[in-house]
Amino acid sequence: MKFTPARRLTQLPPYLFVEIDRLKEEVEKQGKDVIDLGVGDPDTPTPRYLIQAMRRALGESRHHQYPSNRGLPEFREAIARYMKRRFGVALDPATEILPLIGSKEGIAHLPLAFVNPGDTVWVPDPGYPPYGTGTILAGGRPVPVPLKASNRFLPDLNRLKKLKRRAKLFFLNYPNNPTAATATLSFFRELVRFTDRTGVPICHDAAYAEIYTGKPPVSFLQAPGAKAVGIEFHSLSKPFNMTGWRAGWVCGNREMVSALAKVKSNIDSGVFQAIQITGIAALRNPGPHLKKINTLYRRRREVMVEALQRAGWPIQPPQAAFYLWAPIPKRASSRQVAADLLTRCGIVATPGIGFGKSGEGFVRFSLTLPDRRLKAAAARIGKLAVWPKR
Ligand SMILES: *Cc1c(COP(=O)(O)O)cnc(C)c1O
Repeated sequence: MKFTPARRLTQLPPYLFVEIDRLKEEVEKQGKDVIDLGVGDPDTPTPRYLIQAMRRALGESRHHQYPSNRGLPEFREAIARYMKRRFGVALDPATEILPLIGSKEGIAHLPLAFVNPGDTVWVPDPGYPPYGTGTILAGGRPVPVPLKASNRFLPDLNRLKKLKRRAKLFFLNYPNNPTAATATLSFFRELVRFTDRTGVPICHDAAYAEIYTGKPPVSFLQAPGAKAVGIEFHSLSKPFNMTGWRAGWVCGNREMVSALAKVKSNIDSGVFQAIQITGIAALRNPGPHLKKINTLYRRRREVMVEALQRAGWPIQPPQAAFYLWAPIPKRASSRQVAADLLTRCGIVATPGIGFGKSGEGFVRFSLTLPDRRLKAAAARIGKLAVWPKR
């Protein structure tokens, strides 16, 4: 039997971490201790009160059946209350909110609702890969939108305005993975005005809205008129240490929400209801838990940033997300620096190029490792002279 995968599969970009994964295995085989700061997946467990909510929900057999495609009304109402309380954004739970099996699921499926073969989609570069791969799987073509340090990792909207070819969707993500940059409300206001000029719908990914130090990140939907031009993705994964549970939501423009719901009703059967019940518990009073994890990440940011600075890296502590986007010298390659960090320091970092062409010149460190391991990594980082020491 000869299996010939569809072209859309061969069009997907190669998995750029193969090289690092292979090297990691090799270094581990030599008996060396490897500290993996590659993946962004919270190391601390889901809070106990949420496990208890899940236990109670599991005992109810009504939650064992197919969930409704639109999600439990109680969950959508809890999301609406949260969005109102946290961002001052009013949403109709019946038409403007849709639970997702993790926000990645909704992000990857959205292009199926809007992209025809050959259409283009603007995706952040560097950026979270599913914006582009979801576009390719729908037969579209991702067009990278460079995020430059000189523009605080925000897209250059004036440049986009001049592009002749209008995209079908425009993905953005703040607080940003991998750069840890944040956006202001005034940027989102400008973004809404930009859509008046271009007619390209906005898909904002706010997965890191609750991971921050200092001022709470804003929602794109806070900008006046935002609901008329776009949607926003949210996730329970990062704020509640629930990456394995698979729960998030999309909210905002009702036509876009309903188009995605139509795609999904033909693919999946919704989020396990017991998880939705847990989601209600998570959103009811998230303050105390969020305070705890944000204190944790703030401390970790400081530990790593200080160690990097001591080793000569020009880096400031970021305000949000749990990543450090660390610049490397102009002539260095992010692949080579990542490989050297691994072989010389036993540290896995993600080469910036893995997030897109404009990611070159940086490596990403994730802070989702126990303090003890992070401190060990901090102690080793100086072994590799990436920058001249201070
Ligand atoms: C982790 C992450 C997500 C969230 O994924 P879930 O599917 O909700 O677990 C979404 N966007 C970005 C940029 C992320 O880094």
